[in-house]
Amino acid sequence: MEKAILNVDVLYISQNMNSNFSHNGDLAIDISKLKYLKAPFTGKIKRKYSNCNGIWLESSKKVEYADGTIDYMTIMTLHDNDVSDLYINKKIKRNEIYYQPGVKGNVTGSHIHIAVGKGKFKGTGWYKGKYQPKVKAYAWLINNQYDITKALFLHPDVKVSKNSYEWKIYEEKSNNLKKSNNEIAKEVIQGKWDNGNMRKKRLEEAGYNYNEIQDLVNELLNNDNKYYIVQKGDTLWDIAMKYKVYWKDLYEENKDIIGDNPNLIKPGQRLLIKF
Ligand SMILES: [Zn+2]
Repeated sequence: MEKAILNVDVLYISQNMNSNFSHNGDLAIDISKLKYLKAPFTGKIKRKYSNCNGIWLESSKKVEYADGTIDYMTIMTLHDNDVSDLYINKKIKRNEIYYQPGVKGNVTGSHIHIAVGKGKFKGTGWYKGKYQPKVKAYAWLINNQYDITKALFLHPDVKVSKNSYEWKIYEEKSNNLKKSNNEIAKEVIQGKWDNGNMRKKRLEEAGYNYNEIQDLVNELLNNDNKYYIVQKGDTLWDIAMKYKVYWKDLYEENKDIIGDNPNLIKPGQRLLIKF
């Protein structure tokens, strides 16, 4: 099952839910300074409203909400300047860029007005809400409006710029097949899992053992030309076992240092471990 995600390039909330500027009684948010909105789920376009280029996208299947609710979801977005590429029944895939900010309709600046409704699209998709004196207009509320922070997970790649909400962060694959420790270790090296305590927290939330991953990361980072300094009491066999290499290969690689007798290694000798 898909988790519903808020996936924008930049999260700059220029108007909160229930704000008395023009969202009084309305659980919509306005996002500005962004370039695009990606579809939170796979769905179909159910309505287009030309006055403000409003689009209602309904999920094709039930989705998982950030608060754990399982249901269909409908998302309403307003003010894109050009929705000529969108039409009724068009299928939109999750993570597909489908909506942009704009100034179409009653607005003070370029943004996307976003509201989420629980369940399938019904009727006209919205109804008239409270009068908003500051903009001298009525708010129009999506049917079954739902707190957007309880509906959508925030994608971890979103650059958060202005936000006063606590979002649940979406973890890729956390609910599907888990990636191998090796894959995750590579992602850590690529910088996808933050640093320090944040890395620890995120890895553990995604169900990974932090220490195991961290050991692998250290191993991968030292992958080629690893050296081992012989300690008192070591045997070539022990060292080979420790690094999971064949002892004869280890010997051949270091014959110049060890000499003719593989049973005679001396503390302080620096052995090359090749994987
Ligand atoms: Zn708005």
